[in-house]
Amino acid sequence: MILSGMKLEELENLMSGLGATRFRAKQIHNWIYTKSVSSIEEMTNLSKDFREKLSEIASVTDIKIKVKQVSKDGTIKYLVEYPDGECVETVLMRFDNRANLTACVSSQVGCAVNCSFCATGKGGFKRNLNYKEIIEQVLVIQRDTGLKVTNIVFMGQGEPLLNLDNVLKAIEIFNNDFQIGARRITISTSGIIPGIEKLAELDMQSTLAISLHAPGHELRKEIMPIESKYPITDLKKALKNYIEKTGRRITVEYILIHGFNDTPAAAKELAYFLKDLKCNINLIPYNSVIENDYKKPSNNDIMKFKYLLEHSGKKVTVRLERGADIDAACGQLRGKQR
Ligand code: SAH
Ligand code: SF4
Repeated sequence: MILSGMKLEELENLMSGLGATRFRAKQIHNWIYTKSVSSIEEMTNLSKDFREKLSEIASVTDIKIKVKQVSKDGTIKYLVEYPDGECVETVLMRFDNRANLTACVSSQVGCAVNCSFCATGKGGFKRNLNYKEIIEQVLVIQRDTGLKVTNIVFMGQGEPLLNLDNVLKAIEIFNNDFQIGARRITISTSGIIPGIEKLAELDMQSTLAISLHAPGHELRKEIMPIESKYPITDLKKALKNYIEKTGRRITVEYILIHGFNDTPAAAKELAYFLKDLKCNINLIPYNSVIENDYKKPSNNDIMKFKYLLEHSGKKVTVRLERGADIDAACGQLRGKQR
């Protein structure tokens, strides 16, 4: 039996089965989610006899760190392996001027959406991660660094809204067991409309980020096959409904690819498209992926694009590139060693 991923009530049931008090469950819960130990042996406020008894039927985790890489900017990328041999990548980002520690987690092994600019899609889709496999990625980071993660972004491998039940269960555990509030969690999606509708119904309080990447149907279709299934005009309706139901501002993500979607005309079209949507805009200069020959725009073009959007009254940020030297930046996760 694996203890990571168990809620307090589940631990309490386990303890009562072993004839131990509820207080033991609380202690174990703390060892798992706050102190983040790797073994029962390390739970030193439990008696040695009890630790041995518990070790006979349970262990803390069954996943392994296969590779760990540290970037010169402090970003750490882990390739974690599950018992069936499948691997995903998870990334810890630190920013000098912020106290936050942000974990970028994967929700699937591979991805079926297959956007042209992304390394994850290239390997095709393997399987969904269950909620325990999702939260284990954050525990891996906490165990390895001895630090507590404060923010979570579902921006690793996979499309979170195509594995929504597990993502929602993981968020519940992040809220209740890790004590990471809903507002410190962001879900990024390529625009899966039924998933957005479900989140609107649930009145979700986490941030929804939409990978828009183009201002209109024709351009978007060229880089995101999902545009044929969920066209941008329908997507906009779903987003408006989401904003109305939840009262939350969304984030619009927009990759800037040189000569493709970074022109002043594209900026104006985008500003017009977003005019009546309550959103912030996050520009992501394209990160290189070997399978294609897109290029990132010059800094001058990035700033010009940003200026044109700001002119329309929106808050616009340019995403800081993290971990590009270890292939840990957006779109570079492929879930295997190269
Ligand atoms: N599948 C989800 C979440 C994972 S990707 C989604 O697509 O939203 C996280 C972000 O990185 C998305 O906005 C994605 O479009 C972006 N991304 C993918 N490939 C990229 C690349 N090569 N350069 C920059 N950003 C990229
Ligand atoms: Fe999948 Fe997101 Fe990559 Fe597109 S960008 S292939 S949706 S992980």
